[in-house]
Amino acid sequence: MNLVPEVVALDDELRGWRRHLHAHPETAFEERATAAFVADRLRAMGLEVHTGLAGTGVVGVLRHGGSKGSIGLRADLDALAIHEKTGAPHASKHEGRMHACGHDGHTTMLLGAARALAQRRHFDGSVAFIFQPAEENEGGGRVMVEQGLFDRFPVDAVYGMHNWPSAPLGSFAMRAGPQMGAFDIFEIVATGKGAHAAMPNLGRDPMLFASQAIAALQTIVSRNLHPLSAGVVTVTQVHAGDTWNVIPDEIVLRGTVRTFERDVQDTIERRMRTIVEHVAATFEMTATLRYERRYPATVNTAAETSHAVAAAAAVVGRDRVDTDPTPNMASEDFAFMLLAKPGCYVWLGTGRGPDTPLLHNPRFDFDDDAIAIGASYWVTLAEQRLAPRP
Ligand SMILES: [Zn+2]
Ligand SMILES: [Zn+2]
Repeated sequence: MNLVPEVVALDDELRGWRRHLHAHPETAFEERATAAFVADRLRAMGLEVHTGLAGTGVVGVLRHGGSKGSIGLRADLDALAIHEKTGAPHASKHEGRMHACGHDGHTTMLLGAARALAQRRHFDGSVAFIFQPAEENEGGGRVMVEQGLFDRFPVDAVYGMHNWPSAPLGSFAMRAGPQMGAFDIFEIVATGKGAHAAMPNLGRDPMLFASQAIAALQTIVSRNLHPLSAGVVTVTQVHAGDTWNVIPDEIVLRGTVRTFERDVQDTIERRMRTIVEHVAATFEMTATLRYERRYPATVNTAAETSHAVAAAAAVVGRDRVDTDPTPNMASEDFAFMLLAKPGCYVWLGTGRGPDTPLLHNPRFDFDDDAIAIGASYWVTLAEQRLAPRP
């Protein structure tokens, strides 16, 4: 392991920062104390600090030398609406809110990297340290991009990192191409005609629509997609009816679609529209489909992935860097930054065997032994990407 000495020297202090953030979690767009904590520390390191982007977003800029080269490194600030069950001394003091995804660790690692880079000054160019709000569900990354993140901080490439408890501590994983899925939601409303349950011939039963439509929707992945293309169509809610002997007027289905590729996403949405319309017509009723594309797929570019692999290999050794992990169908709003700029999102292994609690689990706690590894990766990546010309 080749940790950056300036990061190692900070390790105790960084663990303290991480535990402070863990004890004071804030959820989407309400990360005011967290943002102030970050901004204060960046200022103390001598960085230029910009606040207010997407409300609670913070960007610190560190410049050195005369090169125009510039990269962005991104962390996320927000916690989840989960009741913590770790029993840790630094457990959440905010009832019903918890850092169950490790964003406290991400924020700490990026702060540690900023301080080490500011001390070392072994680079030529500028580094934008991007602390975004509301990664969970609310798309704070999208809001930052829409509010001009990359107009104000025009970086050549942007990099992201997430702790990954299902990979071993001290490893990294990343791949060129899609690494995490697109996240879409849908709602189908079918309107039939209510009737007495004993006289179904007098109504048009929307239950029949639901039973046939759910089955037909499952044929999209199996019959319409290329056998090697990945897609998920999952109906997660069915709502209709109140009592034993009444056929209801209406039924509502809701669910989610996950994909890695735009044309697959287009195919699924198009086939869903056809199936919904025509299954409804079969039973002489009408149905509508609301289909909403929430997060795009997280797609790494080849050149930036090579840079990420080189930096990770320099820290943990090439044999602990997996460059072909199985992509994951969960989603990540760093995807919006990757739509705007080339870049790479990596997984930082934090697992210690099968009992390590996974992300979003009420017993999850970011592994502080990963802080120095992740911060060293950031420092190494920035110094390799912005290496001074000899
Ligand atoms: Zn999460
Ligand atoms: Zn997360």
